[in-house]
Amino acid sequence: MIVVMKPGASKENLAAVIKKIEAAGLRTHLSKGEEVTIVGVIGDKKIIANLELQMLPGVDKTVRITEKYKLVSRDFHPEDSVIDAGGVSIGGNEVVVMAGPCAVESLDQLREAAAAVKACGAKFLRGGAFKPRTSPYDFQGLGEDGLKLLRTVADEFDLRVVTEIVDKDDIDIFCRYADVLQVGARNMQNFQLLKALGKCSKPVLLKRGLSATISEWLNAAEYIMSGGNEQVIFCERGIRTYETFTRNTLDLSAVAAIKELSHLPIVVDPSHGTGRWKMVAPMARAAIAAGADGLIVEVHPHPERALSDGDQSLTPEAFADLMKNLGGIAHVMGRTI
Ligand code: PEP
Ligand code: MN
Repeated sequence: MIVVMKPGASKENLAAVIKKIEAAGLRTHLSKGEEVTIVGVIGDKKIIANLELQMLPGVDKTVRITEKYKLVSRDFHPEDSVIDAGGVSIGGNEVVVMAGPCAVESLDQLREAAAAVKACGAKFLRGGAFKPRTSPYDFQGLGEDGLKLLRTVADEFDLRVVTEIVDKDDIDIFCRYADVLQVGARNMQNFQLLKALGKCSKPVLLKRGLSATISEWLNAAEYIMSGGNEQVIFCERGIRTYETFTRNTLDLSAVAAIKELSHLPIVVDPSHGTGRWKMVAPMARAAIAAGADGLIVEVHPHPERALSDGDQSLTPEAFADLMKNLGGIAHVMGRTI
């Protein structure tokens, strides 16, 4: 349930509402917007149903929330959330671009990629050090050495780091090197990992599961937020459908759905979303037009030699072309890039 306070409600009115909710053994979540203050009520449904709050001074109305996810929902927090990721705002007016190789392979590869993406305006360096590969015989990543390389190279080029975490026991190591911890599609419902990330202080980029519904994805974010970490960024990366021309089917309607249902930012990954480098630019443009808050794009200095996802990786030249075209679309959307 949410309690919507009247625009002129006093601090005392609000305190009395919170006191009554907490006295019933329930939790509150406060959202103070420019116009209205909303108190979210979390806890036992039966106790919530019996709470008489609408008669308290300063209360405009109470609204029952039927969805299981609460903290991620726009009902609880009507205004957009802006997340500070290493000093870069995600979910604000600027469309944030994250780019880099699928996997960290070597210092030279990462430096070349970082120089290229920085020169075109990317704010984040992406790259996997712990790779969740479909086959155990494929390159599994450089592990902690890869994280160290990411941090060193990102600092050299004044970029932030986003990288995928696959094991909850590695959170402390990741927090040392990364600005944003990515949960990959394959781990979207790894609830132990999500719960552990709820206790962590870094923002989480939560990719959509391979065949996850919007509701399952929102509930996955709720796991992180209910643990105390409210810094969640959604990432649409395509879902499994009957289509085989593309690696996945990029569901850009998810951007509109998430914007309607949640206050959290959403970025789009047109690289995994299509699996084909030629389709990355058109889908990146469409993502911004659909209202995405950012993009995460695979860029490799030599895609033909990439140890993973070469087919969907842009060359530095193709990435530069893409970035040239995005400014106009961001502008039409009233945003900067
Ligand atoms: C990746 O970003 O390299 C990755 C493995 O993505 P996904 O989890 O979306 O497949
Ligand atoms: Mn990849």
